[in-house]
Amino acid sequence: MLKIQDYRPQPFIDFTKAENVQAYEAALKKVRAELVGKHYPMVIDGERVDTAEKLTSLNPCDTSEVVGTTAKATIEDAERALQGAWKAFETWKTWDMDARARILLKASAILKRRHLEACALMSIEVGKNYAEADVEVAEAIDFLEYYARSAMKYSGFGSSETTWFEGEENGLMSLPLGVGVSISPWNFPCAIFVGMLAAPIVVGNCVIAKPAEDSGLIAGFIADIMYEAGLPAGVLQFLPGVGKDVGEYLTTHAKTRFITFTGSRAVGLHINEVAAKVQPGQKWIKKVVLELGGKDGMIVDETADLEVAITAAVQGAFGFNGQKCSAMSRLIVVDAVYDDVVNGFVERASKLKMGTGEENANVTAVVNQMSFDKIKGYLEIAPQEGKVLLGGEAPGECNGKQGYYVQATIVGDVKREARMAQEEIFGPVISVIRAKDWQDALDIANSTEYGLTGGVCSRNRARLEQARQELEVGNLYFNRKITGAIVGVQPFGGYNMSGTDSKAGGPDYLAYFMQLKTVTERW
Ligand code: NDP
Repeated sequence: MLKIQDYRPQPFIDFTKAENVQAYEAALKKVRAELVGKHYPMVIDGERVDTAEKLTSLNPCDTSEVVGTTAKATIEDAERALQGAWKAFETWKTWDMDARARILLKASAILKRRHLEACALMSIEVGKNYAEADVEVAEAIDFLEYYARSAMKYSGFGSSETTWFEGEENGLMSLPLGVGVSISPWNFPCAIFVGMLAAPIVVGNCVIAKPAEDSGLIAGFIADIMYEAGLPAGVLQFLPGVGKDVGEYLTTHAKTRFITFTGSRAVGLHINEVAAKVQPGQKWIKKVVLELGGKDGMIVDETADLEVAITAAVQGAFGFNGQKCSAMSRLIVVDAVYDDVVNGFVERASKLKMGTGEENANVTAVVNQMSFDKIKGYLEIAPQEGKVLLGGEAPGECNGKQGYYVQATIVGDVKREARMAQEEIFGPVISVIRAKDWQDALDIANSTEYGLTGGVCSRNRARLEQARQELEVGNLYFNRKITGAIVGVQPFGGYNMSGTDSKAGGPDYLAYFMQLKTVTERW
C-alpha cells in the first residue's frame, strides 16, 4: 500500500510581495504567447479527435478577444467515448489502488510546476483575479493529493471493518462502479473539473468529462496534465460539447453508471429526473451526485465584532464577483446594528476596483452574455425590492474594454420573501435584510429552499450553538467569510435544493463512486 506523507493543503501565494506579482505577470505573458488562441480537440480512447464545428471561449473582460476554441462533441462522439470507456474499465479496475493514486500525485506535481500558468489562463478565460485564481489552483492540487490518499482506505479485501464471527471469514470489498459522466461548471473550471474526475478515477472508474462551454481551455489544460501523468487511454475521455446535447445524451444513456454534476439547480434537477428513468437495456439504478446553487446568508447580531463582520461580508459577497455557489448573497443584520453594519459594508465595498482579471481588479466581468442579462434583470427590479445603496448598474464596459461588467451592488431593506432574497443571482448583487432580533435573523436565514453555506457573526456562545444545530446549511462558518472551503479541512456540499450533500474534499466522498460487496467464506 502507498506510504506517503500526510496530506497538507497548499499554501496560498502572498500577492502583497512584489516578486509574486511579477511572477504572475510573467505567467500571463507566457500564457498569452503559448495558450491563448489554442484549440483543444476531444480526447477519446487516447486519441485527439476534432469536430467540424467548434466552441469558442471569449474573454469576459474584453469580449473582442477569442481566448481559444475546443471541439464540439456530437452525439456519435459521446457514444464512442462511452463505449471506449467501458473497454478501458476492464483493465483500469484491476490496477492496484496505489498505482492509480500515484497518477494523481504525479498530476499534482505537474500542476504545482504549472501553477501560475493555470492561474493566468483563468484570469484571461473567466476573469479571475490573482488571489481567486491562486486559491482555485491550490484547491485543484489539494483534490489530487487528498483523493490519492483517501483512496488507500478502500484498497484490497476487507477494506471496511466487519465483526468477528466464529468459523467464517467475512469481508467488505469496495468495487468501482464502471463508467460515469462528470459535468462541471465554469465558475471553478480548474478545481471542480479536476476534483470531479479525479475522485471516481482513482477508485477504478472511467470518466467522460464534459466541461462547461465558457471554460473549455482551462479544462483542456488540466486534461493534458492528467494524460501526461500517465492515465491510460480511455480512462478519461475529454469531451467538450454542449450540455443540452451531449450532456443530455450521456445522462440519459442506459450505459451510464453514475453522474457527478456541479451546476445550477435547474439543470441539476433535470438531470436527476432523466437519470431516474430506466432506459431499455439498463441494468442498474444510476448514482447521481449533485452540487447545486445557493442563496447563502450571513447573520450579524448586536454582539458581533462589526469590523470582523464587515470584512467577512465584503470578502464573501464580492470574491469572484459573487460567482461562487458559496457566495454571501444575503446579509441578514439585526435591527440594533443594521445601520452601522450596512454603512461599513457599503463604504468598504465602494472601494473595490473594477477591471480585468489580468489587471488583478477586485470586481471583474461576469462570465457571459446570459449571466450579464440575468443579473441586469435583477438590477431592474432592485429599486422595487429595496433601496439601492451601492452600484446598481451594468455598464458592459470598463476602461474602454467591452465586457460583461456589473457594478458591485448592495440593496438594503430587501424583504425576506422578495425575489432578490430568494433566487440565486450569481453576480455581485447583494440583498441586505433587516431582522428584528437574533431569532428573526435565524428564521430569515432558513427561509430559502437552498442550504449550501451560511454564517453567523456573533460573540454570544448560546446563539452560535443554536445556529450550529438549526441553521440549515451544509457548510456553516462563524465569525469569518462564508466562502473558501479548503479540501480536507472543510468538506464541502449543501443540503436541500443545494445538492446531495456529498461533501467534496471530505473523508467519505470517494465512497459515492464505489459499490460494496460482502464476501463470506465458511471454513
Ligand atoms: P449550469 O447548470 O448552466 O451548467 C453546468 C454544466 O451543465 C455545464 O457543463 C453545462 O454545459 C451542463 N449542462 C447544461 N444543460 C445540461 C443538460 N441538459 N444535461 C447535462 N448537462 C447540461 O451551471 P453553470 O455552469 O452556470 O454554473 C453555475 C452554477 O453552478 C450556479 O448555480 C452555482 O451555484 C453552481 N455551483 C455549485 C457548486 C456546489 O458545490 N454546490 C460549486 C460551483 C457552482 P454547457 O456549458 O454546455 O451549458
